[in-house]
Amino acid sequence: MKTLELKTRLLCEGANAMDDETVEALSDQNPQKVLRGGLSSGLKAKIISQEDQLFRRKDLKKEYKVNFPLYSKIPTALKLQTTENGLVILENDEVIGSAEVITPPDWYGQEVEGYPITSILTQHGDQLVGSVYEWCSLFNTGEQCKFCVIDRSQKVPELRKITRKAELIMKALEKIPRGSYQGIGLNGGMTFTEGRGLETMIPLVRRIREALGNIPIGVEITPPQDPAFIEQYAEAGGESLMMNLETWDDEIRQKLIPGKSKYCSKDSYFKAFEATVKILGKGKVSTCFVVGTEPMDSLKQGIEKVVDFDVIPSPLAGRYFEQFADYPFDPRVNWKDFLEIFRFTREQMLQRGLMSSDKAGCISCGMCDVIGDKEQ
Ligand code: SF4
Repeated sequence: MKTLELKTRLLCEGANAMDDETVEALSDQNPQKVLRGGLSSGLKAKIISQEDQLFRRKDLKKEYKVNFPLYSKIPTALKLQTTENGLVILENDEVIGSAEVITPPDWYGQEVEGYPITSILTQHGDQLVGSVYEWCSLFNTGEQCKFCVIDRSQKVPELRKITRKAELIMKALEKIPRGSYQGIGLNGGMTFTEGRGLETMIPLVRRIREALGNIPIGVEITPPQDPAFIEQYAEAGGESLMMNLETWDDEIRQKLIPGKSKYCSKDSYFKAFEATVKILGKGKVSTCFVVGTEPMDSLKQGIEKVVDFDVIPSPLAGRYFEQFADYPFDPRVNWKDFLEIFRFTREQMLQRGLMSSDKAGCISCGMCDVIGDKEQ
């Protein structure tokens, strides 16, 4: 098995930890158990498959980084075990790869205004990631996306006191060594204003730009209904924008993401895509699709359509959050389908001459998808 395939399997199926050391590594990486809109909470590691380790000299562990679910209740085929040779990945008791848990940075132990710093910013690869508005107005109307867990962080006692975090993000940035990250990704829930949440980001982007000069800043948000917000975002210093379609099929959209599908029509995405590519440039605009929510044909149609707008598709494997008994989303993603979608996406992008030049946010981090990974 190639390392790319192993990464894909880990993303789609997750793994079980066979010892406490591995479970502790997950806890060290996310001590506050922060959950945001999507995949923030997996184990972050560098991996290499046994096949590549045996037959190649190149250190693929430098290249393949992955953020995958570590399940303790759901049994998985892949197991992680700490051995005297480091962390290995097993299937049917046979070693099929090795992993190296990414060590959390030293600043993870700090506090900001009495809050643990990791409840404000965390490190994903060479990116810092934080939620500016750690709530979503769709939870107020019961129209939230079925897979979303942004509200669950609000049930952690230390975190629930504050949902608007711009001020805390600025203070946290003062405590994080500037050379330890290459970009900043900001996200947050939707609002019912015309900006759909982008308006909460713009003043903070401006402040970060003023404080930290040319650090790349990317934002992940629902599409603003008025393109003027995108202009303001670019003027403030935002360099890339991710607006997630999540799924393409209209009926599934209504059921899976009822609020988004009601307040942000596909048309409003297209208008925002067009405006953003014009303002920020090709390679700076992206959208994620949750693989496992719809038939492959429909997903491929969506990917073709967004590539026509020069928008980079980021197919992500839907993730199950086993810690919540009432979690309503149970995706089943076949890793071979996931790989097929990746290859289809790459082909579409090649034909269009589309490449990511994103230096901030999810696409640039690349641990949850395989779009930036090479086939070896
Ligand atoms: S738009 Fe959906 S995924 Fe995003 S924060 Fe709101 S409920 Fe969560």
